[in-house]
Amino acid sequence: MLKTITAISAPTPTLDSLAADYGAIDARLNGARTAADWEAALRDWDELRRRLETWHSLTTLHFSQDTRNPRYKEAREYADALAPKIEAYDVGLKRRFLASPYRTVLEGRLGSHLFALWECDVVTFDSRIEDDLVVEAQISSDYTALLASAEISFDGKTLNLASIGPYLQSADRAVRHAAQHAKWSFFAEHRRELDDLYDRLVTLRRTMAMKLGYESYIPLGYARMRRIDYTQEDVARYRDEIVREIVPLAHKVVERRARALGIERPMYWDETIADADGNPQPLGNGDWLVAELTASFAAVDPRLGEFARMMREGGFIDYENRPGKALGGYCTSFPTDGQPFIFANFSGTDSDVTTLIHEMGHAFQNWRSREIPNIDEIWPTMESAEIHSMSLEYLAFPQMERFFGEAAERFRRKHLSDALLFLPYGVAVDHFQHLVYERPEATPDERAAMWRSVEERYLPWRDYGDLAHPAAGRAWQQQRHIYLSPFYYIDYTLALCCALQFWVASRRDYRGALSRYVALSDLGGTRPFRELVHAAGLRVPFEPGVLAQVAAEAATFLEL
Ligand code: ZN
Repeated sequence: MLKTITAISAPTPTLDSLAADYGAIDARLNGARTAADWEAALRDWDELRRRLETWHSLTTLHFSQDTRNPRYKEAREYADALAPKIEAYDVGLKRRFLASPYRTVLEGRLGSHLFALWECDVVTFDSRIEDDLVVEAQISSDYTALLASAEISFDGKTLNLASIGPYLQSADRAVRHAAQHAKWSFFAEHRRELDDLYDRLVTLRRTMAMKLGYESYIPLGYARMRRIDYTQEDVARYRDEIVREIVPLAHKVVERRARALGIERPMYWDETIADADGNPQPLGNGDWLVAELTASFAAVDPRLGEFARMMREGGFIDYENRPGKALGGYCTSFPTDGQPFIFANFSGTDSDVTTLIHEMGHAFQNWRSREIPNIDEIWPTMESAEIHSMSLEYLAFPQMERFFGEAAERFRRKHLSDALLFLPYGVAVDHFQHLVYERPEATPDERAAMWRSVEERYLPWRDYGDLAHPAAGRAWQQQRHIYLSPFYYIDYTLALCCALQFWVASRRDYRGALSRYVALSDLGGTRPFRELVHAAGLRVPFEPGVLAQVAAEAATFLEL
């Protein structure tokens, strides 16, 4: 049964209450005579933002927990409608602080990172592109709706892009091949629409960049991702390192998996099969898994143990599959109370273990960072936030016997092999987007050729056989980030590169690696990416040689 969170609440704002609350902060700033006056107004504003954030998180969570409840649905729609108004107020105040006569003093007291984040935020919420942002959101939701509308006839059933998943992983090669055919025929039927939606997004984003004085969308895309201390050149160098160090290993993983399946020439539809013995299965159900996780965290470190007990006993993990519950998994938080919450849907597969530990990593960081005074610095930027979640997956490796028994080693090998396969795909998605936004006038067919060129570079083993749509350079159309969140994808690979460094370190000195992990969680989002990585005693992925070290350790572990 669902335990609702009754201990946490926040008032529902109205347009009038927002005008009054933000008006009061504006008035304080109008009358401010010293830097201390500005700081006092900042404290008021921060408290207001925490209340609003807790209200928004609760509203969103309630709806995902029970999408059929009309009250929750209505509250969610109300919150969605109010969100842009709240953002406009916040951006207005960020602008005032950036232009404050006391900015130097304030930066000295609050740190310059906060101001660097705000510089990004004000760029991406500029009145000159306000209408374009509305259109961008509309085209994005058209794409989401198109994918959600998929009705794929297969195995005598009508499936969607999620429910065809198990067939794509069928142990029967002919079934998974046929399932790929069925899936891609949906994309082929909608080829014109998919091409057109992306074309409109690329053109629109180029227009936004021009209006804001950028020469292309790329630097604007980086600002929207709040990238503060690395550049396109850093990312390009990192992609080259992936080609040199990781692609050959990933290729070996593909070939070895195929050999184990008795397949001479692995095709695209074989890449979904990790293990001839099937994927390792967790030994128990959801309740058992969360109890076991709590015990394993306590065995590893008292701080992790105390945290896991609090999450479990407080009912802050919702993992059961229920009718009406939304799909997916995420970690959210209620900043008024410093309380994180994990939303998930367990399916009885090994990914339950991975998802739970991953989201616990986000939650642990949020909880350790709860006392950080400025709400903008509690969660780090995306590439840094995923370090906490992904690293915990590897730091939990020695505990896997608890979850998988004799299959633990198979799980560890699968998880690490999957990481080696993900890195090249992740940077391929990134490289493609750079090519697209460098030449926004390219035709859809030219974009397809761009994708084929990045596939040849990063996924040289890939063979689509008779799957005409992906073979023609359009496999990227299923990758939602490419449409919805431009340039958000490399983040996962950067974080993974850091997580793998934690894995390497933990094999030499487990205690030391874990202490550095906890210390990193304490820093939250108070620093940009490079500084957080250095503070954790890791090397920045852009540095030459970082991937070589990780690759060597993985090759030894996997005997590649
Ligand atoms: Zn995550």
